[in-house]
Amino acid sequence: MQCIVLFGIQGSGKGTQAKRLSEALGYSHINMGDLLRDHVARNTNLGVKVQGIISSGALVDDHVIFDLLESILHEHVNGIIFDGFPRTVAQADYLVHHFKVHEVFFLDLSEEEAIKRISSRRVCPGCAANYNIFSKKPRVEGVCDVCGTKLEMRADDTPEAVHKRFEQFFEQTHQLIDYFEDLHLLHKVDASRSEQEIFADISKQLSTKGF
Ligand code: AMP
Repeated sequence: MQCIVLFGIQGSGKGTQAKRLSEALGYSHINMGDLLRDHVARNTNLGVKVQGIISSGALVDDHVIFDLLESILHEHVNGIIFDGFPRTVAQADYLVHHFKVHEVFFLDLSEEEAIKRISSRRVCPGCAANYNIFSKKPRVEGVCDVCGTKLEMRADDTPEAVHKRFEQFFEQTHQLIDYFEDLHLLHKVDASRSEQEIFADISKQLSTKGF
């Protein structure tokens, strides 16, 4: 199975870019956080197991992530845009052994800017659409454009959980920059720019790979 990976600090806009890219290429968008939150919302065994971990901002065990991935892979045939996977070296090893990785995009954003974006982020608990109270406002304040549900802050966007998530990012995920650079798969993207500029950068790089 072929794939493209997007990773970066929380708030770097990887979800937005992954969605655009999956529409442009006809690949499936796999957002690991959304998959886990869906299990929490449905109260499955997995959801019960990971709920506390997610709301504290810690990372879910690698093997839980691998099992979850294997359980849904048959649904995604053309190719995959990974968003929020891999986040550890063990997950990166798993990725390169199981998938043909075309390119890995690191969305580079400062911690200060990431905090600003996270605190202005709102999500729809009904359909998981994302908004920003400054840069991506819904048509009616506080209400989802897509399904009309009242928007909320994410449960793990509290200052304590954000602190923990950043810690995990710098301790576990940041080293994937070197990991993928060594494999000549990494392309760094300045994520402080507009959504359009970032997408243009990603598209240009992919065009050099025949996309
Ligand atoms: P996100 O929506 O990407 O910020 O992910 C929300 C939470 O889901 C994270 O803080 C982790 O608890 C968990 N999570 C998402 N992706 C992974 C992953 N690849 N490995 C471990 N935990 C993950």
